[in-house]
Amino acid sequence: MKCRICGKEAFVKLRSYNLALCEEHFVEFVRRRVEKAIKKFKMVSKEDHILVAVSGGKDSIVLWHVLNELGYRTTGYFLNLGIDEFSNKSQKIAEEFANRFSLELKVEYLRDVLGVGIPEIARISKGKPCSTCGMIKRYLINRAGLDYDAVATGHNLDDESSVLFGNILHWQVEYLERQSPILPRDRTLAKKVKPLVLLTNHEIKLYADVLGLPYIPDSCPFSTGATTHYYRDILNTLEERMPGTKIRFYMGFIENKKGFKVKEKELKPCERCGYLTTAGICSFCRLRERIKIQFNLR
Ligand SMILES: [Zn+2]
Ligand SMILES: [Zn+2]
Repeated sequence: MKCRICGKEAFVKLRSYNLALCEEHFVEFVRRRVEKAIKKFKMVSKEDHILVAVSGGKDSIVLWHVLNELGYRTTGYFLNLGIDEFSNKSQKIAEEFANRFSLELKVEYLRDVLGVGIPEIARISKGKPCSTCGMIKRYLINRAGLDYDAVATGHNLDDESSVLFGNILHWQVEYLERQSPILPRDRTLAKKVKPLVLLTNHEIKLYADVLGLPYIPDSCPFSTGATTHYYRDILNTLEERMPGTKIRFYMGFIENKKGFKVKEKELKPCERCGYLTTAGICSFCRLRERIKIQFNLR
């Protein structure tokens, strides 16, 4: 198997593209996919200052690395969720990466914001804390992102296609409307972009490994058994049989999205903090109230 670009021995065959590449040209392929997503969806320009949400996982690390390599102006944002060992390890990775490439990293501690971390929140929530944790991350990343031209997150093709699959499976049309690789700025909502949407988990991991980038391999200890993992497995089975299924499924949706136009719920500023919400008081402020009462905080 030879690299299609240079004819040297290939180290990977990307079956969805029927493309064999050597290490060097694979790295270039990944960068071109990111650039393509940025241009296609008009995400950001070289003048923009981008806040990159960094978790220490491979996706956000690769995202930050590629954006930096492509010459974008970036600052990292790490939210320490207070999940002891896991959060501290993740933070070290983010800091190590920032130091290595001389990039600026902002760190915020959930304990400073709410007085407690995710383990305490898990104790007072029914079931898995993942949806609450997701809401907290969206809220605080958004808040940090308001000072920047855009917030970039590491959502990849596997994330986006499995969420899409779940939303279609249950016909949650109201979620389809907002599922997009780019969300424009709207009052207190920062502009959000997902430059890794054209890349799979596998491609991203390979990029990180080829370049020896540091990342935290284990996923959050609270997330085992989440439903989206099933959807992911199903899509991977389909992909195995029919290479290119994921990218066609996702891009087909994005290109035909107009057919899914549903009446969007009107967003109004939260009465406490101004964050746009469909309720009077946003979920974050309601959680904050609950935590104060449950843990006797002032
Ligand atoms: Zn090559
Ligand atoms: Zn609020």
